[in-house]
Amino acid sequence: MAGAACARALVDRGWQVKLLDIAKDPCAGASGVPVGVVSCHASPDDNPLSQLTRAGLQATIAFAKAHLIEGQDWSACGVLERRIADSKHPKKPWQEPAEDSVWYSHVTLAKHEQLQQAGLSADASSDLWQPKGAWIKPLALVRALLSSDDILFLGLHEVESMQKSPATGEWVLRIKHHIAIPGMGSSHTYTSESAPHVVLATGAHTPEFLNQVLYEPDMGLHPIAGQVSWGLQDDSDSQELPQFAVNGHGSFVAHVPTVDGNAWYTGSTFDRHQSQLTATEEAHAHNRQRLSELLPAVSDTLAHQWNDQAQIKAWNGVRCASVNRLPKLGPLDEQRLPGLHMLSAMGSRGLTLALLCAQVVADRMEGKTPTLPEALLQAMQCELPEA
Ligand SMILES: Cc1cc2nc3c(=O)[nH]c(=O)nc-3n(C[C@H](O)[C@H](O)[C@H](O)COP(=O)(O)OP(=O)(O)OC[C@H]3O[C@@H](n4cnc5c(N)ncnc54)[C@H](O)[C@@H]3O)c2cc1C
Repeated sequence: MAGAACARALVDRGWQVKLLDIAKDPCAGASGVPVGVVSCHASPDDNPLSQLTRAGLQATIAFAKAHLIEGQDWSACGVLERRIADSKHPKKPWQEPAEDSVWYSHVTLAKHEQLQQAGLSADASSDLWQPKGAWIKPLALVRALLSSDDILFLGLHEVESMQKSPATGEWVLRIKHHIAIPGMGSSHTYTSESAPHVVLATGAHTPEFLNQVLYEPDMGLHPIAGQVSWGLQDDSDSQELPQFAVNGHGSFVAHVPTVDGNAWYTGSTFDRHQSQLTATEEAHAHNRQRLSELLPAVSDTLAHQWNDQAQIKAWNGVRCASVNRLPKLGPLDEQRLPGLHMLSAMGSRGLTLALLCAQVVADRMEGKTPTLPEALLQAMQCELPEA
């Protein structure tokens, strides 16, 4: 997603881009999540993550409206945000935004009909409604981003090392190609690519890429593994499932078309500093428990499916996160590593953030001032030690 979004931002400005990936096809990493929620992080004090997600949502939705098929690839369904408070995590009260508020038209208090559709009581509810929220299929989004003659996707290209050529001033990337030899195991060959600018968009591989390829510190970036639980909808259950996405304590999305019929998705788990991709029953149980807290009535409706393990499927992936929960983007170090840029650490919000962040990366590559507030840009900048 990060690589595709940067490639698209650059070719739209006249650049030519090669996108190298270890995997054969796009969306092999975290961006292979079958469906994701696009929403704002609503905070009464409009913190940096709120500012970023609000702008990011608008960029993603504008692209989806122009390039994707609504109802198939994405849905402008709105998002109900549950604000489930407990004694340890009280929620700040939310005032209905006035017309001059940054939140106006983005977030309102949830209405009785929305709560009712989700099987929730309106009594003492502090839940929010994001009318511009959506669900989206990342694979469709990435395919649309990559559909340009000026982007060349090169799969099975692992960047193993890279250095600046003293002769040309370009970055030279050594590429490892894994080859399966029938009956003899596997082998590999090497080629190289060179370019004046390189954007690292290596997702959860970023900490090890920084350490092992560039011999740089990992900037506190770390992996967070997650499992989504999902199932195909029974016709009889469908009318009990909300038409909009729900988040705030894990998330729930239903009525997502797949080749086998409409599906629902919930989760995901959040295993910090873990990179495992193995589906577990424990993770399904965790997702079931969280769904019972997020949407008790929906959880009851789907109980017969949860009780039959064969009906619950899993998708596992690994996000990359930063210490301050904001993406890391822009030049790595303009003095020591000129021409080297990055877009990573989008955490659980890559679908909301990638297109906006890619514009910032492209602005910085072209020496333009990005439109985001300076404090926000600073909070996202790469922090490598000076020489
Ligand atoms: C369980 C789960 C649920 C999620 N749900 C949501 C959601 O509801 N909403 C939302 O907005 N976001 C969600 N996300 C987050 C979102 O998926 C990520 O933020 C986003 O996909 C990250 O994109 P990326 O391009 O940075 O990383 P990735 O998609 O992981 O891509 C990194 C790519 O780099 C390649 N690579 C790595 N090292 C090398 C190398 N040395 N050489 C060549 N290629 C290399 C990999 O092969 C991979 O293709 C979820 C993530 C997970 C795991």
